[in-house]
Amino acid sequence: MRVERYELRVRIDPWAANNLQARGTIDLVNGGEPYSEFFLYLHPSLRVTRFACPGARLEEPAGEHPLGYAGRGLHLTFEPPVKPGGRMRVSLAWEGHLAGIVWGYCMIAEHLVELRDFACWYPLPGGHVTGFSWVMDLDLPAGGYPLPTTEVCNGRLVGRRTTGERLYAKWTSADATTDINVLASSYFKHRAASRDRHEGRVYYAFMSHDQAATMLEQMLDTLEFLSAALGPNEKVEGPRHAVNLVFAPRFAEGGYVYGRLMVTSEPQYILVLNYPESARAYPTYGVAHELAHWWWREQVSVDRTTWHDWLMEALAEYWAARVDEWFIGRDKAVTIFADYRERVSRLRRAQPISRTTFDSGDRYVLWYVKGAWVLRMLEFLVGREAFDRAIREFYRRHRGRRVDTRDFIECFREVTRRDLEWFFEQWLERGEVPRLLVTWRRPGRAVEVDVEQEAEGACFRLDTELRLRLAGGDSRVERVTIEGARNRFRFDLGAGETVAGVDLDPGEVSLFRR
Ligand SMILES: [Zn+2]
Repeated sequence: MRVERYELRVRIDPWAANNLQARGTIDLVNGGEPYSEFFLYLHPSLRVTRFACPGARLEEPAGEHPLGYAGRGLHLTFEPPVKPGGRMRVSLAWEGHLAGIVWGYCMIAEHLVELRDFACWYPLPGGHVTGFSWVMDLDLPAGGYPLPTTEVCNGRLVGRRTTGERLYAKWTSADATTDINVLASSYFKHRAASRDRHEGRVYYAFMSHDQAATMLEQMLDTLEFLSAALGPNEKVEGPRHAVNLVFAPRFAEGGYVYGRLMVTSEPQYILVLNYPESARAYPTYGVAHELAHWWWREQVSVDRTTWHDWLMEALAEYWAARVDEWFIGRDKAVTIFADYRERVSRLRRAQPISRTTFDSGDRYVLWYVKGAWVLRMLEFLVGREAFDRAIREFYRRHRGRRVDTRDFIECFREVTRRDLEWFFEQWLERGEVPRLLVTWRRPGRAVEVDVEQEAEGACFRLDTELRLRLAGGDSRVERVTIEGARNRFRFDLGAGETVAGVDLDPGEVSLFRR
């Protein structure tokens, strides 16, 4: 049994006891076995006031259910069961008070209406639902205090009008998605900008016009950078594919992305914009990761239920770091990867990327953080020029297709003409990270550096750099390959050269525990 179409009428009144009142018509279709029940979930602060579906009963069983974080189960029982191919139309009305911020940044307040799918503000089918089409009719205050209401949604606008104090807007789903996300505020201001290929809009309430303009320009810069580096992507080109960046004026941190709608916390960004030194990364870092997914997932995709999804997250994260490096300079990437080394080093269990699944506890560190490290090491191993060529070829070849890790390895092998099996085996099939210890001495007119490797199993091969710090402030960087447990490197010194110190991997290009 699945949802085929969902039609919603929602009335929002931030000042009313029931600030959300809604009606929904859900068309269900049975594509398989005879079906006798169906589950929907609704936020606990909302209650069903009307239900109509011939031959069906609605119950609200007590106790736990799979969407316990946000929803309360609504159990539909069909008597007799719905036959394969059969259809049911369920009509529901519900209302209640969605106060503050419920799970998933959903709120109805005077200054902001933020309705997000996951928060179950409408009865949402549980489990793995496939995409359905939706129609959403929204009726909310027209604003005027301080400004007329501005709304933004991930759907396609089909109608909008203002009557007296109310605003009516209607959207349909732009693609076959299960999500309906809409934000509205009479504090929202917005700006639009366009470049040759890309268009963008930014919605903001309290940041300055200049700050909003900066964020918008950076977002467009990022799209241009990614297009130039990876190849053109028609899914984020032209006015129909404008990317909307929304700074929601609420204190809950974090955000979410649905297609071209990217939502994040405005106060959090104001802090970053006003105190850049307090930020771990450039303000657009999180945005860059999401924009990169338009190449890595929306164009080249994987089966998301398998471990191969590591590649999409790793590519998005790696390219976000490249965007930062391009904006700020090489040192920024060094800082990011030093931080990522720490995070990988803190992992308690040695779990390989290839044995990590979507619900693994360490998925974020393994797929995003260590995954980005794997790509950074690959870049250092083959060189940036060859790396970029292979990535472009991978995108060109598999655009619009589903791939797995094997396709990625194959493409790199062909483009770089190198055997990289050992590299991927080492970093994807093994979970541990080796520890390196470095000591050095000065016999005569040379410097001798010993690098000792401690690994749980066989030794790793690590391509990295040694920096010889010379007395007087200069330094020399030497490329080395560490393979066994004991590695000795000897460098002759020029006349008058004296070594004051030796640093292992100053550019953060190889992953090991320090
Ligand atoms: Zn991601």
